Order: sequence, then structure tokens, then C-alpha cells
Amino acid sequence: MREYVHLNYDEMPKSWYNVLPDLPFKLDPPLDPETQKPMTPEKLLKIFPGPLLEQEANDVDRFIDMPEEILKEYAVYRPTPLIRAKFLEEFLETPVKIYYKYEGVSPTGSHKTNTALAQAYFNKISGTEILYTETGAGQWGSALSYAGVKYGLRVNVYMVRVSYLQKPARKNLINLFEGNVTPSPSRNTKVGRKYPEDHPGSLGIAISEAMEEVFDKDNAKYALGSVLNHVLLHQTVIGLEIKKQLEKLELKPDIIIGCHGGGSNFGGTILPFIPEKLSGENLRFIACEPESCPTLTKGEYRYDFGDTAGFTPMLKMYTLGKDFIPPSIHAGGLRYHGAAPIISALLKNNLIEAQTFSQDETFKAAKLFSKIEGIIPAPESAHAIAGAIREALNAKKEGKGKVIVFTLSGHGLFDLNAYV
Ligand SMILES: *Cc1c(COP(=O)(O)O)cnc(C)c1O
Repeated sequence: MREYVHLNYDEMPKSWYNVLPDLPFKLDPPLDPETQKPMTPEKLLKIFPGPLLEQEANDVDRFIDMPEEILKEYAVYRPTPLIRAKFLEEFLETPVKIYYKYEGVSPTGSHKTNTALAQAYFNKISGTEILYTETGAGQWGSALSYAGVKYGLRVNVYMVRVSYLQKPARKNLINLFEGNVTPSPSRNTKVGRKYPEDHPGSLGIAISEAMEEVFDKDNAKYALGSVLNHVLLHQTVIGLEIKKQLEKLELKPDIIIGCHGGGSNFGGTILPFIPEKLSGENLRFIACEPESCPTLTKGEYRYDFGDTAGFTPMLKMYTLGKDFIPPSIHAGGLRYHGAAPIISALLKNNLIEAQTFSQDETFKAAKLFSKIEGIIPAPESAHAIAGAIREALNAKKEGKGKVIVFTLSGHGLFDLNAYV
């Protein structure tokens, strides 16, 4: 029998976990790119609505209630299942128990809907009419478009041109949810016009284009799908559910794993377990990133811009430099030059680990998982599978029975061209 841990709606977490008050250090504040001083609230309010800025800076409240309107939408696909990877365990002949939290059941197939719904809702109640954003592989653009339809906001998406050309299904999905998609770099913005018309684009350029549009308009705001504190906050619904599901099994995790692009699914998964780690429990957190975009393992810890043009506030984070253009590997969602300030600070303080994975190791893991577990993973999520396999084999060598949990951040049904 497949071990499949379900929660009922009434067991679903009703508030997000805010890790900031529990951290033994303070995060360095975002800096204004023009003055190099901490951002003023007025300037930030041009970009983000008040409630999200409050969440971003809140280092007092450990739990933040989910409004009823968001809970209602979460209930469309949450709680998501925690599934025992029994076939994988048998295949690896390892003494460990492997569980995965499956976020691919969301309407657009990834964890991004968790924050898209929250961001669209808090924008709506703050009077925003149009949201601008960027998307790499298209998961964020489609999640935000879905959320925009739910709460009645127009969504405009700048999509990195290579992905726009390689992933027409994602573009169609954005259109289905009434979002507008423009390949980036575009002719619409000053930043975009600096590049040749057939430039492949990058997340950094697409963010610059979306930000430029927002600065020009009063009724528009910007939404980011990863990196920022409030995004990780919304994603903690993942880890909070995992906690309850493991409690039902009367299990404690030894290793928790997630793939890392900007840090939102990894952060959402591990942050609720940080109090246990800080109280001295023997618990490891592993962020898995591609060899070709090794932000956490090879980046520098310093202030950097989130975009290429230097419009965004500067964040203290691990970064490969804002001009880093990663090779176009298939895992589009892991091609960001920076990392979440929260994740970066946790790594700097040795509370988490990071490992890199080659495209070969990742795709072997993805294909194996598809065939034996029956779920085709997103190429990004496959890094977490590869991480779990590595740790399961290590434990086998040591002859130790451990509990490994990883988040499968999305399915790969829109990425099948990556599998041929
Ligand atoms: C966007 C995305 C990622 C990477 O983003 P994080 O913020 O690091 O989570 C990983 N997996 C999937 C399926 C994605 O859509």
C-alpha cells in the first residue's frame, strides 16, 4: 500500500510562520540603490502594497494569520499530500525512510500559487489594479495570473525570451488565466530597448522591465515570486503541513531537502523547523542547486541588486553578480543570480547546507522518479530528488536508518521537451 499522509481542511495551518523573531541574528536591511542607505517606506510603497511591506519587515510576530479569503483559495488544492517514496527506497535498497511533500497538485502545478494568492489578495485590498512581474520558466507568471483572476487584478508578465520560445504551453496557461505575456527584453521599456531584439533575456532583465512599468504608474505594483521575506513567509504553509503530517506518523525528520532557485520552496519547507534546530536537535537542511548556477556554493555574500538595471532595492545575499547570465539549462526556475536574504543568512551562520548537482545527475534522478514513483517532476524539483538520493545512499553506506523529507516543488508536465 502506498503511504499517503493526508490532512483534512480543519487540520490545515491557519497562520504562516515568521522565522525572523526566532533568528539569533538580525537581517541587514534592503538598501536604496540611489543613496546606499536603508530604503524609505515611501519608496518601497511605490513597489509593494502596505500589508506585504509590513510582513517583509515584521520581526516581532511569530505567526501571521491567513485571511479567510486566502484560506478559501488554499482549500482548492491544500493541504497537499506527504507521500512515502516507497519505490525509490526499494530501488536504492536503503535503510532510510524517504517522504516527499508534493506541491505539484496546485492549479498551475507548483508551490508558487501559495504566495501568488497571498500577494494578489493583499494587493487587491490595498487598491492595486495591475500587477507587473517577470517569469523565467513560466511557473510564477502562470501562478500570479491564476491568482489575479481569483481576486480581480490584471496581470502583466515579462517572460524571459528563451523560455517564451521554448515553453509555449506556459504562455498559453498565462493567457488562459487572462494574464498578458511579453517576451523580454521587449520594446516596451527603456531597459528592454537597450538589448537586441532577439536577445535570449534573463530574469534580471525581465525584473528591470517589470519594475520600470511600475514606476510609471499609480495603480500598478510589482510582485516577486521568490527571494523576499514575505514570499518565504507565505511558503511556510508547506513546512507547517509537513510538521503535522510527520506528527501523524510519529516521526521526526533527520534531513530536510529542497531545490533552491531564489529560496522560496526551500525556505517554506525548512523555516518551520528552525526552532528545533536552534534548540540543538540534530537536524540537517540541504539546499540543492544546479552546478551551472551555483549561487549558494560559489556566490559571494554581499549587497547586490535583484535585477540587471539596478532598479530594485539592494539585498544582502549570496550572489553571482547581477550581470550573471546562466547557460540555458532546462531548470529555468533555478537560474537566478541571487538568493533569499533569509536563506543566505542561515547559510552564513551554518544553520543550513548547500550542494550542487550536475544536469546529468539531476535528469537521471528525474527519469528514475517518473518511472518508479509515477510523478514527472519539474526539472527544478529534480534537484531535490537527486539530493534525497545522494543522502539516502550515504545513509546506506553508514548503515543508518534515517528519515529524509524533501519537497517536490512542482510537476514537469509543461516541461516534457526537457525530457527528450
Ligand atoms: C520557481 C520554482 C523553483 C525555484 O524557486 P524557489 O523560489 O527557489 O522555490 C523551484 N521549483 C519549481 C517547481 C518552481 O516553479
